[in-house]
Amino acid sequence: MENYIDNAVNQFRNLLEEQIARQDKMESNSLPTDFKSLEKIVIGVCTGDGIGPIISADSKRLLEFLLKDEIECGKVELKVIEGLTIENRTAQNKAIPDDVLAEIKSCNVILKGPTTTLKGGSLESANVAMRRELDLYANVRPVCVPEKNIDWTFFRENTEGEYVLGSRGVEIPNKLAFDFKVTTNMGTKRIARTAFEFAKNNGKKNVAIVTKANIMKKTDGKFSEICHEVAKDYPDITADDWYIDIMTANLVNEKIRSDFEVFLLPNLYGDIITDEAAQIQGGVGTAGSANIGDKYAMFEAIHGSAPRMIEQGIGEYANPTSIFKATEMLLNHIGFKAQAERLDKALNICTETEKKVIVTGDKDGATCKEFSDYLMETLSKL
Ligand code: NAD
Repeated sequence: MENYIDNAVNQFRNLLEEQIARQDKMESNSLPTDFKSLEKIVIGVCTGDGIGPIISADSKRLLEFLLKDEIECGKVELKVIEGLTIENRTAQNKAIPDDVLAEIKSCNVILKGPTTTLKGGSLESANVAMRRELDLYANVRPVCVPEKNIDWTFFRENTEGEYVLGSRGVEIPNKLAFDFKVTTNMGTKRIARTAFEFAKNNGKKNVAIVTKANIMKKTDGKFSEICHEVAKDYPDITADDWYIDIMTANLVNEKIRSDFEVFLLPNLYGDIITDEAAQIQGGVGTAGSANIGDKYAMFEAIHGSAPRMIEQGIGEYANPTSIFKATEMLLNHIGFKAQAERLDKALNICTETEKKVIVTGDKDGATCKEFSDYLMETLSKL
């Protein structure tokens, strides 16, 4: 037993030193990429696992269609990156194999298909690793239901909390297990700044800071305190504290939910509540997700790799709408606003008003390709 305790204490010391170094490095980070000034923008497409290759193929087709001129004149390059698969990651025992990571880092932005994460074991999630490696600290998810007066934007801290050391906890066999949760000053400051800047630039009046600071006093306490410090620079915006438990209830409380505008949350609560919000919007097919850092950004669907659809032989019926929404966010991020707007319009026609081709996720609906063809046809008329 003494041996286990000594090892755990040593491990904790190493983790502390590493996390202090990570926070210090954040302080010296660079300015955001100015896409307008780049000679060429390289978009990497990682297809992922399960239904990933199916929905990614149509997203690539969509980008080729919308950015035809830019690709032809060399302003944009699309690069398919192989190897971010559960088979390759398991074989190399690396969340992101080195050669794949080098390819990813040679791009400016990434469109990523969902990747499988195994339960247990030591292989880290490819998503968590990518967010850390590319320092994608802001997970931004818009949720909009105009007929219910809902217009929410979630800013989830994406690199720390329960996730940063999620694969590096301590276990004493047959006794107990410990995981670690980390909140840093700089990590919180930069996500808070991103959320408040968004609120200021988009005429929002209210930011809800959502934690469980009454229980997680150190980490969530720090998160809330630093968000309020940042809020002082935005006197026209109110910053309110909420606990995550009541906030999950508020989202289904029709009397008050339309009062919320911007949500600012640590990693785990953000992960959970954004899926709840997407369900309110109409299911995981209806929202995309942006993971934004200063140098890189990665865009993806909010659902997973749906392995059961592949097992049941219905992978081709996967709904590509979420990754298409992510593609729209990617276009906006790199400065192609007109193309993003066109895609938004076409998606609205195909999924809300005209609805000539409907994907259900099963054989009673259209295939991913049939829906994509319909979307492309709609786009070409706009
Ligand atoms: P999931 O999102 O893959 O599936 C949940 C349910 O939604 C399933 O019934 C599935 O069939 C359905 N579904 C998901 N996407 C769909 C689509 N595009 N069209 C139609 N139906 C769809 O969630 P899960 O089962 O919890 O996770 C499966 C795997 O995906 C796990 O290994 C998990 O770790 C991983 N995952 C990856 C990401 C990511 O890469 N961003 C996100 C979540 C989960």
